[in-house]
Amino acid sequence: MLNNRNLMRVAVPLLCLMTALAFQNCSKTQEDAANPAQQFPFSSSNLYFKTTQKFTFEVYYEPGAEPYVGTTPKGAQYWDILKDNMVSIFQFRSTAPTYSIPTMLADMSSIPTQNKTDWTTTDILSLNANYKKSNPSDTEARFYIYFLKGYFNNGTQQDQSVIGVSLSGTPIIAIFKQVVQSTGSSPTGPVPRFVEQSTLVHEMGHALGFVNNGVAMVKNYQDTAHGSHSLDPNCVMYWQNEGAASLSAFIQKYLSTTSVVMWGPDVLNDAKAASQ
Ligand SMILES: [Zn+2]
Repeated sequence: MLNNRNLMRVAVPLLCLMTALAFQNCSKTQEDAANPAQQFPFSSSNLYFKTTQKFTFEVYYEPGAEPYVGTTPKGAQYWDILKDNMVSIFQFRSTAPTYSIPTMLADMSSIPTQNKTDWTTTDILSLNANYKKSNPSDTEARFYIYFLKGYFNNGTQQDQSVIGVSLSGTPIIAIFKQVVQSTGSSPTGPVPRFVEQSTLVHEMGHALGFVNNGVAMVKNYQDTAHGSHSLDPNCVMYWQNEGAASLSAFIQKYLSTTSVVMWGPDVLNDAKAASQ
């Protein structure tokens, strides 16, 4: 889970980009809710890093919560940030998988307005049961990404700091668009767009098995106090990154280079060891 709980306390709101999951383990948020792992037998790190031939993304959005598309200041597609990180994490496979990841809104699917202020894990699972087009198989992994209006509800209360969640044991991710939109000084600037993509990368990190969330660790770098997160502040799976200096460096990295790979070396080492 990514949240922006610190966002209002700092002047530079891209902080939330690396403020991965403060205070809550996204992987445990819904474990007790619906025992979803039994419903998704192909949601397995073992398959992803060994035999999955194709990774397909189904992207859905409510009106007013459309994903950001278009090009970065460096001229790349924003959705290529997710793609590049997928290619990076599977670079150690002996046979490279293929990817079907939409980059344009026309290749994503609008769903009717849901009129919800709060989304529980159960609500998101139900939404996916209603709208998913196809099921995953042992050779074709599918991930279902929902861009929603309203906020995450952890089962106890609404949490307006949560940007995204990965439902543990499932290939389902929800992005809370109003939280994304609240980042950055300009809604038309690049900041919320990078926030959105880095949230997707972070949540996909959990869905693929990091940190210690299905993919074994080569060395122990798990920030156990914060769940399935990395102790490395330069990794997208870090639980939090505070301070304007590191933030400025992070922004600069996106604006001045074409590399958008966000995984730290520990995550990549685990991916390498898990791959065949
Ligand atoms: Zn997280």
